[in-house]
Amino acid sequence: MARVVQKYGGTSVANVERIKAVASRVVKRKQAGDDVVVVLSARAGDTDRLIELAKEVSPSPDPRELDMLLATGEQITVALFCMAVKDMGYGAISLTGYQAGIMTDDHFGEARISSINTETIMEHLRDGKIVAVAGFQGYDASGNITTLGRGGSDTTAVALAAALGAEICEIYTDVDGVYTTDPNICSKARKLKRISYEEMLEMASLGAKVLHARAVEFGMKYNVPILVCSSFVDTPGTLVTQEDPTMEKFIVSGITYTKNVARITITDVPDVPGMAARIFEPFAKEDINVDMIIQGSSGVPGRANISFTVSKNNYKKAVSLVEDVSRKIGAGEVLGDDGISKVSIVGVGMKSHSGVAEKMFAALARENINIMMISTSEIKISCVIDEKYTELAVRVLHDAFELHKDPNGAFFEKEEKFDR
Ligand code: ASP
Ligand code: MG
Repeated sequence: MARVVQKYGGTSVANVERIKAVASRVVKRKQAGDDVVVVLSARAGDTDRLIELAKEVSPSPDPRELDMLLATGEQITVALFCMAVKDMGYGAISLTGYQAGIMTDDHFGEARISSINTETIMEHLRDGKIVAVAGFQGYDASGNITTLGRGGSDTTAVALAAALGAEICEIYTDVDGVYTTDPNICSKARKLKRISYEEMLEMASLGAKVLHARAVEFGMKYNVPILVCSSFVDTPGTLVTQEDPTMEKFIVSGITYTKNVARITITDVPDVPGMAARIFEPFAKEDINVDMIIQGSSGVPGRANISFTVSKNNYKKAVSLVEDVSRKIGAGEVLGDDGISKVSIVGVGMKSHSGVAEKMFAALARENINIMMISTSEIKISCVIDEKYTELAVRVLHDAFELHKDPNGAFFEKEEKFDR
């Protein structure tokens, strides 16, 4: 008998038929003798609709009240799910984040889980019930309802799996695993059998939308194996787990891209201590995430150019912040470009191989794709390019690193896909 946490995303519980189908899946697992805790998302589109509704009432809704509203989406699905399970003759109980003991900080809309008191869940499991927990929500020290950020139900599930000491956290979604790259733009993309937490974390924060990045962080920290699989077809999913030292590593495991990036350059910044701090201070205050930052010579002695990227929806705001600082510190012009994207290669094998960056740059050069910015970490290299070349860049990199080849059985064959 194992203890498992299963999470079903919005498309998996989108309507009454789907909710009933999920209930039968879970009941089957229960019949097999496992203790099952189920985490559900809101029905697909519900969270968006609630946000729209709030905006009809108020142009910038009060954050506390917005979380109160958004948390209702997940309450709908857990309640309906438990009704369905009970009609199949099994015990079930739905719990809100608060009832499930999921405590967070008080950062409405982006709250982080601080602790989980599993007593209530454990009690119901001991009673033989299937426990359904509303994903994406918790409560803060003052008892306010909080939400964990878009896509946060993944994080609820993995954090619960860690707290409950579950053997595995299964994430059921509308894709059937983690691919070498987006199969929608690269027909040669292959599904990975397994991927390390470290690689998955890079892929998730780089825009591969299969898993919430915080969920992967939890998995890595508490060593919870996470299985990403489909609730629509019965195909083996991808296991996100610790790096396997016995397996021959790929140099590159995946290629990701992020569109909607904007680049801002501030020229002729006085090259003295404290300038970067002055420029980026307002960004922290406004909660605008700055991604890559590059400082280089401006050609004028004693002056530097600083370029950085932000997401496109923060572009206008960012430009106005920088124009303001530029005047104050006596820097030059502020230049911007909001039609760019970021393409990245990710792989733990990079740690022990050289020449990876050159290979990436050469592949892009062969297609005449200009690289505007470069950033690297131990297991990732990212290049900023013109947005219109994104798909092409992904495909040539997939070819250059031969991600369609399978030297050590790391992929699933296409034939293994079958509908049930
Ligand atoms: N319902 C929330 C969202 O749409 C959380 C989730 O689905 O994970 O972002
Ligand atoms: Mg999701």
